[in-house]
Amino acid sequence: MRLVFLGPPGAGKGTQAVRFARERGLAHVSTGDMLRSAVERGTPAGRKAKPIMEAGGLVPDEIVLEMVAERLETDAAKGFVLDGYPRNTKQARDLEGLLADRGLRLDAAVNIDLSEDVIIPRLAGRRSCPKCGRVYHVRANPPAREGICDDEGTALVQRPDDREEVVRERMRTYREKTAPLIAYYRERGLLVDVDGGGTPDEVYGRLGRALEAVRKK
Ligand code: AMP
Repeated sequence: MRLVFLGPPGAGKGTQAVRFARERGLAHVSTGDMLRSAVERGTPAGRKAKPIMEAGGLVPDEIVLEMVAERLETDAAKGFVLDGYPRNTKQARDLEGLLADRGLRLDAAVNIDLSEDVIIPRLAGRRSCPKCGRVYHVRANPPAREGICDDEGTALVQRPDDREEVVRERMRTYREKTAPLIAYYRERGLLVDVDGGGTPDEVYGRLGRALEAVRKK
C-alpha cells in the first residue's frame, strides 16, 4: 500500500505510522526524521532547516521534495507510509507527480484527528529515540525501561520543538497550511478519517479496520 498520514502535531500519527509500516512490511518515510537527521549531521539542508523547525514553521518545499524523491526511488514500488509529508497542497501535487512518473498513485490519505486540548499535554510527555526515531509517551506509551528505547537501548530525548510555545506555532502552521489537505484528499476520494482519541492500541485498531475497508474497495 501507498499511504500518507495527516493530522495535527501530537495526534499520534508518527506512532501509528511506525507500527503500521513495521507490521505490514512497508517503508516508513518521515520527513521530520529525515530533517532532524540532516540538522544533526549539519548538512546544507539541515543548516537551512534548523531555525525554521525550531520556530515551528515549514521547511521550504524543494528541500523536503528532494529528500522524499530520493527515498521513493527505492520505496515507491514496495509500498510506504509517508509520515508528515505532504504538509501543504504544493507538496501534495509534487508527490502526485513523483508517483505518476512511476505509473503509481496513493491508496489512501489517513487523517488522524484529535482536539487541541488533548494534544498539548500529550506533546509535553512525548519522548523519542534519537537513533531510530521511535516515539514514546511517559505515561500513555512508555518503554519497558524508563527513559530507554526498547529497540535501540538508547536514552530517550524530548524534541526541542515540543516546548509549549513552539507547539502553539506548529498548531498554527498546521491549521493554516496542512489542514486544507483534508479537503484536498476528500475531493479525490482518498481520505480515511481515524479518531486519534484513546490509547495507541485503540487508535491502531481503528486504523487497521479503516484501511482494511480501503483494501477491499
Ligand atoms: P514532524 O516530526 O513531522 O512533526 O516534523 C518536525 C518539523 O520538521 C516540522 O515542524 C517542520 O518544521 C519540519 N517538517 C517536517 N516535515 C515537513 C514537510 N513535509 N514540509 C516542511 N517542513 C516539514
